[in-house]
Amino acid sequence: MPELPEVETVVRILNGFVPKKTIKDIRIFHEKSVLTPASAFKAALIGETFLPCTRIGKFIIFHLTNEKVVISHLRMEGKYFEGEAGQKPEKHDTLIYDFTDGTSLRFNDVRKFGIVELKSESDYKTTLPISKLGKEPWDLEAKDLNEAFKRISGPVKNALLDQTIILGLGNIYADEVLFASKINPKTPAKTLSIEECSRILEESRRILSEAIKQGGSTIRSYHPKEGMSGNMQNELHAYGHEGMKCDRCGMIMRKITLGGRGTTYCPKCQPLKGKPFIVGVTGPIGSGKSSVSAYLKDKGFKVLSADDIVHSLYKEDEVKDHLRKKFGEKLFKDGEINKSELLSLLTSPKSKKALEEYIHSKVYERMYSEIDSGKYKKVVVDVPLLIGGPLEKDSDLIVLITASKEVREQRLIKRNVDPKKYLDLNDSFPLRKAKKAASITLDGSGSLKDLYKQLDHLDLF
Ligand SMILES: [Zn+2]
Repeated sequence: MPELPEVETVVRILNGFVPKKTIKDIRIFHEKSVLTPASAFKAALIGETFLPCTRIGKFIIFHLTNEKVVISHLRMEGKYFEGEAGQKPEKHDTLIYDFTDGTSLRFNDVRKFGIVELKSESDYKTTLPISKLGKEPWDLEAKDLNEAFKRISGPVKNALLDQTIILGLGNIYADEVLFASKINPKTPAKTLSIEECSRILEESRRILSEAIKQGGSTIRSYHPKEGMSGNMQNELHAYGHEGMKCDRCGMIMRKITLGGRGTTYCPKCQPLKGKPFIVGVTGPIGSGKSSVSAYLKDKGFKVLSADDIVHSLYKEDEVKDHLRKKFGEKLFKDGEINKSELLSLLTSPKSKKALEEYIHSKVYERMYSEIDSGKYKKVVVDVPLLIGGPLEKDSDLIVLITASKEVREQRLIKRNVDPKKYLDLNDSFPLRKAKKAASITLDGSGSLKDLYKQLDHLDLF
């Protein structure tokens, strides 16, 4: 999808072609793309001459003689091409302006989301959709942005994409602006200071100007002459860099979803204010998670282990009472929860679900109260089911430890537990999903020294 710099590039290229062209005929092939009734559109424009185009946000504004204006939005795939007057339409052409000089301008749109609409000089800024748009970064002041942010809830990333608040940042440049401003995309917009808003505006202006200078990053053929591409993709530091090392500090860049949009940031140089740096450690049983946690603990991390929390939960009276009511006395021996009874409870899917829902919510409650306590700067969360749970999004770095089944089996035998029982239970570990979500996958099959060496490479200390 083109963003502001790409649209500005299109406008500049259009200005090398359309001014002084007089419309001889208009052919419409997809009426829904023309928001004005076709007959009125043609009647108003045939005989008029194009003047230089301008741009507001991602709208192209075609100015014509006699105060006529056509606004156009490219949406996903809309493109303008030069052609010859009267030529056969190409596949996906939605509209062709034929000019008196024998040339034409074609609007081609594979996805058909792009639009054109007839307006006039007197009303195009004061009527929808332009009227509801905010100001571009060049026209906005930090205190206005700060005021606008105070009125909304939600993270700053979503706020930057809201074109009524600030006009011109799409998904690519919003990530770039936050990276350059060293602001975490999850930061609630209303908590940003005027100084931070000022940084956002300065970086928005700098990055958008640079992108315009470079001809955009995804330009491909959003322009009347094919064969030209933008260079801005070489200047990007956040967008598309997930899993790569941060250009500034070397930390692994993290991608999360915010407001339904992929969001990439550096967890180290864009820290979330008031929150610790969270390393999520996950992996199948016996893969070496606890060794990783222990090593990180030595290096000053607070370790929150789901297993340890579960262990202590089972000793608490409130939890025991709840489980007694739910599953009966058979779960208990001498007043304590019987581990083998608990394991056999897990073989019934219904009981497993009921037990896990209760215990997991308790575990998260405990973990978050520690994370939010403000006591720690660096936290490790050791959660077997990290992936898909709330701590996946909240982790700044996800370390997946894997090890071969043989190695894991040996380790369980050493711990004096029946590997069959545990490994069967753990077959439900979502390895493929975890690999996709992980910032890094470490091989825990070898020696501890090997594992620690891999951790040292992450530069977490
Ligand atoms: Zn960084």
